[in-house]
Amino acid sequence: MSPTWIMTAMTTTTTPMTTNSEKGHLTERPTDLAADQPAGRPSALPRREQDILDEVWMRLAIAEAAHTAPGDVPVGAVVVDAEGRVVGRGSNRREADGDPLAHAEVIALREATRAVGDGWRLEQCTLVVTLEPCVMCAGACVMGRVGRVVFGAWSPKTGACGSIADVIRDPAHAFTPQVRGGVLADECSVYLREFFERQRQLDE
Ligand SMILES: [Zn+2]
Repeated sequence: MSPTWIMTAMTTTTTPMTTNSEKGHLTERPTDLAADQPAGRPSALPRREQDILDEVWMRLAIAEAAHTAPGDVPVGAVVVDAEGRVVGRGSNRREADGDPLAHAEVIALREATRAVGDGWRLEQCTLVVTLEPCVMCAGACVMGRVGRVVFGAWSPKTGACGSIADVIRDPAHAFTPQVRGGVLADECSVYLREFFERQRQLDE
């Protein structure tokens, strides 16, 4: 990553980046998905149809965010299998459970691995989450071989899909999920804005 690229990412919230790589994409996708698709691609849908499905799934993730325990940053995630069935759901429970691993993505991935796959691989699945995954969750997607990662709002201070790091598309990994960011970003930010506004009021 060049310093300019990092600066661009850190000053970006909902504005899509334009960086591409050979193994993945954030918002700029090739016209032929198959040409850019790593192992684990969950569907052969044309781009437009996949875009519509991503938004449908993102609304399910937003609904999960609405169920976030009080006191936790509202983030929701779903895992969808190759047939479009939701096989995992989760919302952030780090504070509620006193568990640093209890991010929405990890909870949803654990549920999905119990429902599908050969124990831990999720190559035919898509993780859809309302906020750009952190280093831990992006790493879990790589190590769990999640086929696609779709996220909503950018997270300039913690995001590891382009903001502070690009764990997902690191070419050093043997497996690189396809990634798409900024899906329904404004809608995904609503609960986050309300949460942090409440926190500010409590702190005053
Ligand atoms: Zn996380």
